[in-house]
Amino acid sequence: MSEFEGLVAAVTGGASGIGKAVATLLAERGAQVAVLDLKPEARSTAEGSSAQPDDDGFRCDVSSDDEVRAAIDAVVERFGRLDILVNNAGIGAQGDVTANGDDEWHRVFDVNVVGMVRLARAALPHLKNSPSAAIVNTCSIAAWAGLPSRALYSASKGAVLSLTLAMATDHLPDRIRVNCVCPGTADTPWVGRLLDTADDPAAERAALAARQPMGRLVTADEVANAIVYLASPLSASTTGTALAVDGGMYGLRPRGP
Ligand code: NAD
Repeated sequence: MSEFEGLVAAVTGGASGIGKAVATLLAERGAQVAVLDLKPEARSTAEGSSAQPDDDGFRCDVSSDDEVRAAIDAVVERFGRLDILVNNAGIGAQGDVTANGDDEWHRVFDVNVVGMVRLARAALPHLKNSPSAAIVNTCSIAAWAGLPSRALYSASKGAVLSLTLAMATDHLPDRIRVNCVCPGTADTPWVGRLLDTADDPAAERAALAARQPMGRLVTADEVANAIVYLASPLSASTTGTALAVDGGMYGLRPRGP
């Protein structure tokens, strides 16, 4: 019997990139998977998923409390339970602190941080009924690496890291484990869109890969493996951790002067 047999997982941002890889892997391992996403493609679900939403219930903008509540209600109505929440939806922002105004700061925090809080608020009553409850948040090495020209994005992911630790502590008595995964530069449509803004996307991609210690980008499947591990009973003694999947670029080691 696979480790997720009988369990139900909700994956935000599950229509693309890392979230799609997570949804696919969870389904392969026996979970019933609900993809919650802005995009219409989310309705066709990840390949191999047993979830086949036939209504708008799984269409969900994580910046809307009403949509989040409706989506979680629809998932529980359809599958009868909720065991795993993968808080993965996120958006980026470029530049130093002068690059974005208040509206943009509010917008990115609203999706990247408060979005996870909304999902947790809606999901917690159901997770408390599960003997295998786990929340995994997609963070980023930007939370601690001091990446250049990523002030807003880095601050939002720093908040995700702190939120993960706080939730792990608060929900220990509920037997709900809360962890996060911190990808480095992962080869997803997100990074593809950034590369497409370069004059020569292929050359930019090669240069980006060359800057990685392993000479290549992290794959979405590699990040998904870490997320699925932290969602699974294999990590039953692990809560309040941040697992880096960054090709050795930053890890959790202290930065030098
Ligand atoms: P992606 O753009 O390929 O996928 C993101 C998904 O999130 C999309 O399907 C999008 O529709 C969905 N989404 C965006 N805003 C949403 C909203 N308001 N409500 C619901 N869904 C929404 O990106 P990805 O690279 O797979 O990124 C996934 C997560 O991984 C993000 O949280 C990102 O910050 C994080 N991350 C990515 C990288 C990387 O290099 N790709 C590195 C570190 C962290």
